[in-house]
Order: sequence, then C-alpha cells, then structure tokens
Amino acid sequence: MGLGFVNGNSCVASSFRLASNNRIEQLLKLVLHEMGHTESLRHCELRTCFMRDCGGKNHWDEVTGFCKNCKGFLTKNAWSFSNN
Ligand SMILES: [Zn+2]
Ligand SMILES: [Zn+2]
Repeated sequence: MGLGFVNGNSCVASSFRLASNNRIEQLLKLVLHEMGHTESLRHCELRTCFMRDCGGKNHWDEVTGFCKNCKGFLTKNAWSFSNN
C-alpha cells in the first residue's frame, strides 16, 4: 500500500490500490498513516484510527482520524492538529 521510511523524513504513498471514488481523501489518509510510521508510530488496534493496519484491504472509508493515543504520540513529536 505504501512505505514509510524508518530513517529519514521522507515517505512514499501509492494510490494504486485505492478505490476510484474518495481517491484523494483515501490518499491523504494513507499519507498521514505513512507519516505516522515516519515518526516511528506503530499500527493501532482501533478500526477508525489512521494507524490501523491495512491488512491487505482497503479500509480507508472507515478511518476517521488519529485516535487519542496516536495523536498524543504525534503531539509529543511536535505535530500540531489544527482541527479538533
Ligand atoms: Zn502501516
Ligand atoms: Zn491509533
């Protein structure tokens, strides 16, 4: 689906396997997921979290945002969230 480099500040996302509707929205979610990996964030249990494991399926329409845990982790890593 995508690859977040562990060492470095870059990441790559592929839209190849995404559905044609909501493509941009799904790509944005995927990019945020990969950026989470770039910040050494691991996969999350919550099905609505950006950091949910893809598991070979396209679940992006169920994903609504970073959960409290992941958001807290990213905030510690100097991310800021403008909405909510
Ligand atoms: Zn992942
Ligand atoms: Zn999470």
